[in-house]
Amino acid sequence: MSEDHHNPTPPSPIEQRVAALEELLTERGYVPEGFIEDVNRAYENDIGPMNGAKVVARAWTDPEYKARLLTDGTAAIAELGFGGPEGHYMKVVENTADVHNVVVCTLCSCYPWPVLGLPPKWYKDAPYRSRMVREPRALLAEMGCPLDDDVEIRVWDSSADARYLVLPARPGGTEGLSEDELVGLVTRDSMIGVARL
Ligand code: FE
Repeated sequence: MSEDHHNPTPPSPIEQRVAALEELLTERGYVPEGFIEDVNRAYENDIGPMNGAKVVARAWTDPEYKARLLTDGTAAIAELGFGGPEGHYMKVVENTADVHNVVVCTLCSCYPWPVLGLPPKWYKDAPYRSRMVREPRALLAEMGCPLDDDVEIRVWDSSADARYLVLPARPGGTEGLSEDELVGLVTRDSMIGVARL
C-alpha cells in the first residue's frame, strides 16, 4: 500500500484492518453491500439513550406497563419496538427512595445496546468496573451521585446472558408533564444508575 502524503491523518492500522475485513466479507457475500454503513448509522442516529428514555417515561405514566417491564423487561421493551443485538435478555431494576440500582460489567463492557446505544468510555474502564463493586457509595459520590447512608445500593453485574436497565425514580413536581415531555428528562446516566434525576 502506498503512502498518501496529502492525507494528514492516514487510517490507523486497526482502521485499515477493519476496512480490509469489511471489503473481504462484502466481496464474499457474507454481508450485503452497505450493511455495515447502515449499522453504523443506526447506532449514531436511531439507537441510543432516547430509546431507554421512552421506556422509562412509559413506565412512569402507565402502571400496567411498568409492572410488565419489571416482570419481563425483554418483552415490555419489545412492545415499544426495541430489541436485538446485546439485548436478548433485559432485566429492568427500579430505583426508589430507599434503593439505588447501578449497572456495571466487571468482565468487560456488556451493556444494553437496544435501549442505551454504545457504552460511554468510562463504563469500559478498569477503575469503574472494579470500584463499582468494591466501593459503590464512594464511587457514586465521586461521579456526582451522593447517596444517604440509609439508601441501599444494589450493583448489577452485566454479562453475555443478562443486560440491565435502571428505571430511575420519577422526579417530584413532574405530575403535570406528558409522556413526551418526561422522555426529555431521562438521562443516559440515570438509566445506568450513576445519576439520580
Ligand atoms: Fe461485558
